Amino acid sequence: MSENTEHVRCLIIGSGPAGYTAAIYAARADLKPVIYQGMQPGGQLTITTEVDNFPGYPKGITGPEMMEEFKQQAERFGTQIRFGVVTSVDLSSRPFIVSADDGKTVKAESLIIATGASAKWLGIESEKKFMGMGVSGCATCDGFFYRGKEVAIVGGGDTAAEEATYLAKLCKKVFMIHRRGELRASKAMQHKVFSTPNIEMIWDSVPEEVLGDDSGVTGVRVRNIKSGQSHDFQVHGVFVAIGHKPNTELFTGQLELDEINYIKTIPGSTRTSVEGVFAAGDVQDHYYRQAVTAAGTGCMAAIEAERFLTN
Ligand code: NDP
Repeated sequence: MSENTEHVRCLIIGSGPAGYTAAIYAARADLKPVIYQGMQPGGQLTITTEVDNFPGYPKGITGPEMMEEFKQQAERFGTQIRFGVVTSVDLSSRPFIVSADDGKTVKAESLIIATGASAKWLGIESEKKFMGMGVSGCATCDGFFYRGKEVAIVGGGDTAAEEATYLAKLCKKVFMIHRRGELRASKAMQHKVFSTPNIEMIWDSVPEEVLGDDSGVTGVRVRNIKSGQSHDFQVHGVFVAIGHKPNTELFTGQLELDEINYIKTIPGSTRTSVEGVFAAGDVQDHYYRQAVTAAGTGCMAAIEAERFLTN
């Protein structure tokens, strides 16, 4: 074996709550797991604000702090955590062959996929043009730059609602643009949005174009779906919070995916269509998508990997 090729019993891809929980359990079961953190170490929680619904944190905790604690717990039991992105996998026979952008090739006896899901974008040309110049996918990361200004946020789910209330604390005014006449967000989040005086709902509407010049975003043109009429809002920032898509490109054609590209698992388990490959967290769950459910399936995946390896 060349020095860049190694053999591991359990390889984990992804470092959100699912990946780190799988690592904690796999390490304690002496599987000596190796984890590739992926594109966004710590996963989606590193770009959220307060987490108030993860049991065990009665006073709440920020997403980045919580993920740092997950990481430290995984390290404490000997997980090898690598800063790197997996670039290809071959699941056609065991050991599975996994290559990463650190130049290493890993032969893995078992594989736990916890690559999560990534933010979706509107897909309009001007969104791309002003990305990082007023268009953002993360209020917590970029809200600071819009203190005292007017901004827009697109979406009607919990993320949009949470980010709108966060932005409302910093900004003069937040226009919340939603394509329907009611929010998808939980009742608690809806209550927060509707009771925040500087959030204005723009119902039944979609952004048609992000407006701007060399200095960045100056506004957003919004079309009312019902009337067909367009209206320009003068804003300096446009935050997009319209949901996620699963990070499954690496596995297309090798694992069974569902109609919206999430990894299919055998009900009640994390087993995939390939024996020895397990999937945990948002990459296989478009329904619950919570940190606590991701952590739960991460635990299941490690237990299943251990039983698979010892049987
Ligand atoms: P969701 O999929 O729940 O919501 C996406 C929103 O964006 C929907 O309102 C949807 O509209 C809208 N949308 C989707 N595509 C487009 C488009 N192309 N143009 C315009 N609007 C669009 O995603 P979230 O990220 O909000 O939440 C994901 C999961 O995470 C949920 O289960 C949520 O409950 C959870 N979450 C929980 C939090 C908490 O408990 N603190 C915080 C954040 C998220 P429509 O409603 O019409 O489909």
